[in-house]
Amino acid sequence: MTCTFCDDMGSLTLRTHREVMSCYSCRYRFRIDFNNQTNGPCGICFEKTTLLTLPCNHTLCVECCKIIYYGIATTQQPIHWRKLPFPFWEDMDPIKYREYKKFRLKWLNTDEPYETILQRRDSLCSTRPSWMNTESFLDYENNLLQVIYSQKEWDVYEDQKFKGNGTCPYCKCKKILKV
Ligand SMILES: [Zn+2]
Ligand SMILES: [Zn+2]
Ligand SMILES: [Zn+2]
Repeated sequence: MTCTFCDDMGSLTLRTHREVMSCYSCRYRFRIDFNNQTNGPCGICFEKTTLLTLPCNHTLCVECCKIIYYGIATTQQPIHWRKLPFPFWEDMDPIKYREYKKFRLKWLNTDEPYETILQRRDSLCSTRPSWMNTESFLDYENNLLQVIYSQKEWDVYEDQKFKGNGTCPYCKCKKILKV
């Protein structure tokens, strides 16, 4: 299940409003009452479908709304990080957490390609504390790195979306974002 507008899958915060689903972030950011739905022809694309009401009281179909305010994907959707296993290591404590974080920030720069930092990590195993090289910790670390890279990929996917100018096509009203 994904949010109709931003394609995010925050399963716990998703709400259904008849035809559409919204996530917490979209409800929080936009002044659209998703429950206020009517049926009719959209004045922009002429499709006879579900219409949403904008804060200026003009109506737009869900698809036009999505293009103008939220953007539509132009590249293939990557795997969302919420679908990956949650990084968890049962022996983690605040001291180990800090020690590992320091190691990771110093040596594993996630601006570099994933394969590069995996190789570097492997080459540094002999220099770091042995608890960081246990099988269970390495599983945790691999999960964590996958989540970090998956979040970065998602950000690129978001950036490459085709997105309108965020104003009502009828009256140019911009008051859609909550501030
Ligand atoms: Zn959303
Ligand atoms: Zn439309
Ligand atoms: Zn308007």
